[in-house]
Amino acid sequence: MIDLRSDTVTRPTAAMRAAMAAAEVGDDVFGDDPTVNALQARVAALLDKPAALFMPSGTQSNLCALMAHCQRGDEFLVGQMAHTYRWEGGGAAVLGSIQPQPLPQGADGCIALAEIEAAIKPDDPHFARTRLLALENTWGGQVLPLDYLDAATALARRHGLATHLDGARLFNAALATGQSVARIARGFDSVSVCFSKGLGAPAGSALAGPADFIARAHRIRKMLGGGLRQAGVLAAAALHALDHHVARLAQDHAHAHRLAGGLAGLPGVSVSPPQTNIVFVDLDPARAAGVVDRLQAAGLLCTGGQRLRLVTHLDLGPEDIEQALRILRATL
Ligand SMILES: *Cc1c(COP(=O)(O)O)cnc(C)c1O
Repeated sequence: MIDLRSDTVTRPTAAMRAAMAAAEVGDDVFGDDPTVNALQARVAALLDKPAALFMPSGTQSNLCALMAHCQRGDEFLVGQMAHTYRWEGGGAAVLGSIQPQPLPQGADGCIALAEIEAAIKPDDPHFARTRLLALENTWGGQVLPLDYLDAATALARRHGLATHLDGARLFNAALATGQSVARIARGFDSVSVCFSKGLGAPAGSALAGPADFIARAHRIRKMLGGGLRQAGVLAAAALHALDHHVARLAQDHAHAHRLAGGLAGLPGVSVSPPQTNIVFVDLDPARAAGVVDRLQAAGLLCTGGQRLRLVTHLDLGPEDIEQALRILRATL
């Protein structure tokens, strides 16, 4: 079975498992785990932020960030289709009493600067206090332009808002643009990255930002049940991923390109060139009926319907991509 559902489906490699098995560990709730501490220092340096905190998941990392930036009754500005608004169970509202103000995103993932500015509420008891702008990069596999990120974060700062970047796939954005992850994250107060997506670790994310912010996030992580004990086994996987799985993302991007190229020109199928490792394939309605089930029966897993989502990752070689193309062409 060729699994294109997500870049989270990868299994840890033998080398990663060896690094995990060999990890020096301690009780991280006491701050005693040397591998976790090493990872946190490394991530803070890599993202050029004062401090970083290991997190069990990207969802918890984003939630800790939102709750560390905002108080009860504050609001955050966020894309209508952003992960922190749409795909995290409403956690900011449910657990943080933080009101989301979702805003429309263009096809490129950007929220128009005028929309952001217009959504910032005046200081008036009728309104929630607008406190934070949260953006996401990559969004749906698309890279938000650097000048947009700089302009949006500058706008937020001018209005006294904090800024958070959901960078679950920030390393893909860095590769696609040739910019460092630190440069992309520069305008943001805080940034979250995932090790369990394209980097191939079995679990784990990290949140980076100012020291006092990370101290608040640490308390919130504990409250949310994210204080792990011998977490060094997971941090070792993340360190291994940073050493060995960053440059190779280029292969995933090339595979996505090959998939898109190989489907271009099929009747009733439209596919735009991917920027990173996610390919969206739009089907005319006649072709879309039951397509995910038909693809699965033919040996290919993916998500979607009329718009299929194909995600390339570490566990796929060039032969898998060619086989996926054969299945897709025959089925579509
Ligand atoms: C996957 C993802 C997350 C959350 O990560 P989990 O580890 O699955 O909780 C957050 N934001 C984006 C953009 C993601 O793709």
